[in-house]
Amino acid sequence: MRLFEAIIDANHRAVAGDNSAGLHPADFADELPVIALTCIDPRLNALFPNVLGLPGEEFIWLRNAGNIITSPLSSTLRSLSLACAVKGGREIAIIGHTDCQVCKTTTSQLLDKLKALGVERSRLPDNLNEFFGMFATERQNVIKACDFVRQSPLIGPKVFVHGLLVDIETGKLDWVVNGYEAPQLAAAQMKGDFPKLADASNEELGGGAMAGFHFGEMKFPESKIGEASVKIGAIEICPVAPPPIAPQIMVPPSAPAPPPRIPVPPPIRARVNVPFGRR
Ligand SMILES: [Zn+2]
Repeated sequence: MRLFEAIIDANHRAVAGDNSAGLHPADFADELPVIALTCIDPRLNALFPNVLGLPGEEFIWLRNAGNIITSPLSSTLRSLSLACAVKGGREIAIIGHTDCQVCKTTTSQLLDKLKALGVERSRLPDNLNEFFGMFATERQNVIKACDFVRQSPLIGPKVFVHGLLVDIETGKLDWVVNGYEAPQLAAAQMKGDFPKLADASNEELGGGAMAGFHFGEMKFPESKIGEASVKIGAIEICPVAPPPIAPQIMVPPSAPAPPPRIPVPPPIRARVNVPFGRR
């Protein structure tokens, strides 16, 4: 069973009331950390990363209003790309949620709310839906976001891109896009069928300042990148002990204990938080 198949299996068992349901992060050391984009809805604060069964240190959490991605070269995609390259992420999940208020807000309602805050319509872009990435359904929005990530030249074909929807009441996760079943997209990207950076529009790359700019001529600041790596490495190996947390049983008593990994995450944080369905 692959990482997200195991995550969803454990999540479904936990929501169904199985107190022994959980994920063994040590079994997926090569696939972790997970990189996830979710909405900013504060109700999600209590759900993640518990609903995924992941310890906090294996969960890289990006958030924006509506978990919206507006283009293959958007600011969010730059962060996703860096999370893969710098933090070693190999699986990206776009996780929408039920009862999303961004989804429920119409363009006219948005205009009214912005006007109440002193935002003038005349100073906003013409196509508000496109600019803010407004969407009709949570599932459609997740599918669109996954498409943008998969098409992005910033995300390599070796990275799986999944789409999920979480029930904000129960914590139940469901597939929207199974990234393991989309190898044809990765193959297409391998062949270079998707746009390259040099094809990006001037607007996508930040406007007039980029006019006439050619990526092939770009001089990257190697010394700065090196310094940043050393700094990040120092943080990662900092021997800070995990906070004392009372241990909980992750597996049934009859099951063999998973092999230890260093550092071993506190079991309570590597266990799907149950039972959301009973709240
Ligand atoms: Zn939302």
